[in-house]
Amino acid sequence: MAYAYDDQNIFAKILRGEIPNNTVMETDHTLAFNDIMPQAPNHILVIPKGPYVCYDHFALEASDAEIADFTRTIGKICAELELQPGAGGDGYRLISNAGENGVQEVPHLHVHILGGRWLGRMLQKAD
Ligand code: AMP
Repeated sequence: MAYAYDDQNIFAKILRGEIPNNTVMETDHTLAFNDIMPQAPNHILVIPKGPYVCYDHFALEASDAEIADFTRTIGKICAELELQPGAGGDGYRLISNAGENGVQEVPHLHVHILGGRWLGRMLQKAD
């Protein structure tokens, strides 16, 4: 079944310049900006510029150039924020929520980069 992309989602509006954002990094295929409700001292959202609903959609249908650009941008942001555990940083967590069970609020692929504090265990018991 084909993925249905809703171009009225808030990140699509950010990409069209209809809503402001606090940009951290921008490349040909990728935009990264600060989360409006940060859950950690570093909380950045990385999104592809293309219309992808969630991670599997992107992984299956994006071009190699888009995937490489997206992945490298995440790496560059981790480096810029000095989060890399292998290079003296304190580490970070990547999260990409997808669909109902993943509790995805915005239906445009985004990877959260969280860092700057101890983040606790990966999952807590659901409500
Ligand atoms: P998720 O639950 O994974 O879909 O996360 C959506 C994230 O988008 C949440 O962390 C929100 O705080 C964030 N968010 C929603 N609207 C905006 C916005 N206009 N600018 C930046 N972040 C936003």
